[in-house]
Amino acid sequence: MNLNLAQYQHLAEELAPKNVTLVAVSKTKPVEDIKTLYDAGQRDFGENYVQELLEKQPVLPSDIRWHFIGHLQRNKVRSIAAFVHLIHGVDSYRLLHEIHKEALRAGRQIDCLLQIHIANEETKFGLDATELAELWAQLTAQPLTGVRIRGMMGMASFTDNLAIVREEFQHLHSLFVQYQSLAGYAAFDTLSMGMSADFRIAVESGSTLVRVGSLLFGVR
Ligand SMILES: *Cc1c(COP(=O)(O)O)cnc(C)c1O
Repeated sequence: MNLNLAQYQHLAEELAPKNVTLVAVSKTKPVEDIKTLYDAGQRDFGENYVQELLEKQPVLPSDIRWHFIGHLQRNKVRSIAAFVHLIHGVDSYRLLHEIHKEALRAGRQIDCLLQIHIANEETKFGLDATELAELWAQLTAQPLTGVRIRGMMGMASFTDNLAIVREEFQHLHSLFVQYQSLAGYAAFDTLSMGMSADFRIAVESGSTLVRVGSLLFGVR
């Protein structure tokens, strides 16, 4: 399956009036496909692997907003610090501290989302409620000026049982709302949840940003 431009237009039109940001997840897909979506108006793209992002970024238009949605290793932060738009998968103070350090070095502040573990699978990364509270306390005690926490990100269980998916998204939304009031700043405004298979449930559950790959670019 290939890039589906009609699907893109349909999706963009569906999400725009809801004020939901569409991140087109382009991992493993060629720069030509990205450029085609860019020419159709898309500006937010998501990548999972640093090496791949570093190959694509220099040969594509500079006003693309690159979202890093994979698991970021601390020793790779420096290579993307100058240009990355939003880092979705942050789940430790150590990683946040590294991003803070490299952001200051690059003369900017980097927007980040805290990844929350909501699925019932072991394999997915992210913080549970207790770890989130601990990280939050640490950030309050030792603020990191190079990063700005914009909200949260999560992935639902890989299951056909949509009731479970909905429950997990609603749980994440309630955590988001809770920390939004704790954060007390207007920029804590981003809830990244929903992929090709479950983005409608995510939007119904309060998502402000969906990460959609295969529906747009074809199966990987
Ligand atoms: C690959 C990926 C997506 C996109 O998944 P699709 O099912 O292809 O839409 C979204 N989020 C993350 C974190 C991913 O790794």
